[in-house]
Amino acid sequence: MPEGDTVWNTARVLQRALAGARITGSDFRVPQLATTDLTDWTVRESASRGKHLLLRLGAPTGEHWTLHSHLRMDGAWRAYAPGERWSGRPAHLIRVVLRSPGAVAVGYHLHDLTLVPTADEGHLVGHLGPDLLGADWDPAEAVRRLADHPEQTIGEALLDQRNLAGVGNLYKCEVLFLRGVSPWTPVEKVPDLPGLVALSQRLLAANRGRWTQSSTGSLHRGQTSYVYGRRAQPCRRCGTAIRKEELGERVTYWCPVCQPELPRPSSSG
Ligand SMILES: [Zn+2]
Repeated sequence: MPEGDTVWNTARVLQRALAGARITGSDFRVPQLATTDLTDWTVRESASRGKHLLLRLGAPTGEHWTLHSHLRMDGAWRAYAPGERWSGRPAHLIRVVLRSPGAVAVGYHLHDLTLVPTADEGHLVGHLGPDLLGADWDPAEAVRRLADHPEQTIGEALLDQRNLAGVGNLYKCEVLFLRGVSPWTPVEKVPDLPGLVALSQRLLAANRGRWTQSSTGSLHRGQTSYVYGRRAQPCRRCGTAIRKEELGERVTYWCPVCQPELPRPSSSG
């Protein structure tokens, strides 16, 4: 599942494959960019902001533009050597191909693919809270933004990218388990919000540079999470069956014993 660390890794793949390169051909397979041709543009750098990818380009005219993409649940970028078989995904999922002398970058099932002046990146990512993996990570600001919505459940607040950028459903579930906090706890009742934010950052940072996401320290299949994806399986700490339920727009996983629930707010309140 693409969360902040996956997007960070993807940005690095594109950086290594394309940074400094001249684009020798482009092929956009989305209506809004169907007539765009980036031939002879250069790739300045690849960056991530939360779960957004920013490929910064230089036009032959000297203008700076940014190709923005979002992976959501299922998008991916792959870099191939010229002539290498594109083994990533089915061809019908391809949304863009960027060719350079040293590499071919292929974007699969990308969302919100747009080309904007780099000076206008803020329109796309300016609403985001502090980036957990950004050079300007600001934990105090993330805590402040979370605390601004005291009655929101912490399960929803951690996923709201306006509070802090980079946590997806997997890390949300895992961080709350590790802190012993029920996902339904209102933000104002979370015992140690700074501790929760700090752990979220450490978990994402620990998973940078590899594609297997783990919160347990194990990279073995089936052992990488405490609760995420483990409905009805025994809790690794207490043996209680892990539960799964809708929370807002997403499902959440938790251990009812290790993450004791406060009384849930009534729907009228
Ligand atoms: Zn448990």
